[in-house]
Parts: sequence; structure tokens; C-alpha cells
Amino acid sequence: MALEKAKTDSVLGWEVHDHLKSLGLETPMTPNVKMLNKQKLSLIEDHFEKIMETLGLDLSDDSLEDTPKRVDKMYVNEIFYGLDYGNFPKCTQIDNKMGRNGSFVLEKNINVQSNCEHHFVVIDGFCHIAYIPNKKVLGISKLNRIVQFFAKRPQVQERLTEQIRATIQFVAQTEDVAVYVDAQHFCVKSRGIEDQNSRTVTLSVGGVFGDDISETRKEFLNLARMQ
Ligand SMILES: [Zn+2]
Repeated sequence: MALEKAKTDSVLGWEVHDHLKSLGLETPMTPNVKMLNKQKLSLIEDHFEKIMETLGLDLSDDSLEDTPKRVDKMYVNEIFYGLDYGNFPKCTQIDNKMGRNGSFVLEKNINVQSNCEHHFVVIDGFCHIAYIPNKKVLGISKLNRIVQFFAKRPQVQERLTEQIRATIQFVAQTEDVAVYVDAQHFCVKSRGIEDQNSRTVTLSVGGVFGDDISETRKEFLNLARMQ
């Protein structure tokens, strides 16, 4: 579900958007992302109705008649709410009283439920995030919320991983961030090649985690691969 207003920060959200854009990491999008939800809902309902009609489905059937309405709500308010930076999570931070001692915070097994932008079907997996706090420490649940926000838009896994890494670097003001995503793509599982078991792993690292010989990087990768 989309976040309640009290838990969102659209000002920070649009700053994140500008930052990602400057890095070439933003999802290709048009000003339509700012269209009123009401307008998006009614347009998507119309278009989805046409898709169903074209497929030969009888929209007068009581099981099918409300499907276009259900799909528009699901797109705008649920699975694609992360296209709207008005829904960007508030990222409360506290002063880092422990100083910069080089040890990292690791959040493991964060749920990743997204949709691939090539087929609009499910990407299902998990993500591990580590970062070394600088002057501020992010509330742990904020990492989950940032992952969720970027997962809730049509995605490619590589860009999703980069967007999460760059956003945490920006919000927590530290270069030292590592993001590891392991997911199954239903467009590979249920269509095309129909491979049931293949998984895709992506890694995006910055700062000390990007240094091939650093112990911190090795430690993160060992912990990430340990279930
Ligand atoms: Zn796909």
C-alpha cells in the first residue's frame, strides 16, 4: 500500500529525483508522473478495458466487469506508487554519537516485490544493504522503505539496485553503501525460456565497499551470501 501522508516527504523525494537524474540513474519518465491520481485512475481504467475487450473477454460478466477498476487502483496506489515522489518516505535521522568507527550497519533479507518494465510481470526477491554511518544514522526501517519505494515502479533489477544505493548515499550523506539484490523474474519463469529456478544477482557498491581489496567489502559479501 502507498504510504500515509505523515510518513512521506515529497520535498526530499524530488531532490532524490534530481540527484538520480544527474547520475543518469532515473527511470525514464515524463511529466505525466505528476498527473492527478484521479485522472490516472480513469485513463488506466479505460485503457485496460480496451485490452480486455481486444482479448475477447466479456466485460458484462460479473466476475470481469470490475477488473479494469481493480487494475487501475492496483497500478496507481499499490504496485506503481513509487513513480510518484509525493510518496517518497520520510527519512528520519539521528546524530551518530558513536563517531565514524568504520563498522557497518547491515540490514538483511529486505523484501523486494517489483515488476519488470519489459513485461509488467513480477520480480520477487530480497535485498541486503550495508552502510557506514557518517554524521547521521538512518532509522533502520528507512532502508526498507527506500527499497520498497523504488520497487514499486516498473523496473530492471540493475537500475533498481543502483537507485537504492545512490539514494542511501544521498540521504545518509555517506559514500560507503553496498546493495545486493537477489531475485526471480517471472518473465523468465512463466514465459519465454520458462526457467523455473534461475535467479539474478546484482550488486551496487560505493566508497570502501567499492574497493576490491577492502576487508569491509569481503565481510559484506560473506554476510550477504550467508542465508
Ligand atoms: Zn521482463
